[in-house]
Amino acid sequence: MKIQKFPDKKTLLKRLNDETFRRITISFYRYVIIDDPRILRDEFFRKWTELNILGRIYLAHEGINAQMSVPEANLEKFKDQLYSDARFKNAPFKIAVEDNGKSFYKLTIKTRNKIVADGLKDNAYDVTNVGTHLSAEEWNEAMKNRDTVVVDMRNFYESEVGRFENAICPEAHSFRQELPMVKELLKGKEDEKILLYCTGGIRCEKASAFLKHHGFKDVNQLYGGIIEYARQVKAKGMESKFKGKNFVFDERMGERITDDVISHCYQCGSLSDSHYNCANDACHLLFIQCESCRKQYEACCSEECRNIARLPKEERLKIQRETAKNVPDSVFSSRKRAKKK
Ligand SMILES: [Zn+2]
Ligand SMILES: [Zn+2]
Repeated sequence: MKIQKFPDKKTLLKRLNDETFRRITISFYRYVIIDDPRILRDEFFRKWTELNILGRIYLAHEGINAQMSVPEANLEKFKDQLYSDARFKNAPFKIAVEDNGKSFYKLTIKTRNKIVADGLKDNAYDVTNVGTHLSAEEWNEAMKNRDTVVVDMRNFYESEVGRFENAICPEAHSFRQELPMVKELLKGKEDEKILLYCTGGIRCEKASAFLKHHGFKDVNQLYGGIIEYARQVKAKGMESKFKGKNFVFDERMGERITDDVISHCYQCGSLSDSHYNCANDACHLLFIQCESCRKQYEACCSEECRNIARLPKEERLKIQRETAKNVPDSVFSSRKRAKKK
């Protein structure tokens, strides 16, 4: 058997930079039963390599979650190919707008247990039996009714800086923690109209199926999530019922949707909605900090952390190694300590 040697990162980046054609960054997901994700992975890898597609794709028994960069000239061909498989027919693509298409330098397709970890068994509920999709307009209309129940399906650190008016925001630090929490919080509301939302739609798509499985009759979700809602609100000049920032996992730590600041500095309590990770790497707590505390604490979450951050590098690394053994891996585990000052 011939062993194929893959080019290294440097070579791949150079190849990407030397390209003279345009690439489009697209993303899509779909909950659909895939009997053998590994076979599909091999098939996709073969077909998409031929089309010079790059990206990161996850496949699981429950579906697909894909972010990819496709040469503009091959976009139609790629769509035709994908849609010819009944499981992915008309899966809606999101096209990244502000982007040069050079977001990936290789094609990675991985199989996983789940595309969104929920801590439940594969057959615990039918993930494809989702709720009703609502556009931004339909969502605003539905929110007018005081009896509807709006639920934020994101983690607490996401909803604390931005959320829909009157939304229930569970104190969850992960999606798997949140599903049973929400079921419990909504007990007795099985006949009421439930509105779910998250960042891009992929989490509440799943949550809607989970709630339907547990007897909720009128489950709806914001189609395309806050990202798509914000886009539609802007394009159509509608009122944004989402206030504050949409938390995102990149260096910006959030996209401002409205000027409202709805959260407070963990240290002094003044209005602020800027998330940072504590500059003491042994702590790394994600927390909200105002500019003046940021100066005073030198970007740390507490005096204790500031004192550690001031130490010489070798000493800091030693502390980091020691604490790594004792502290659970969640960056939020120490959040209470930060609140105390
Ligand atoms: Zn402060
Ligand atoms: Zn800290």
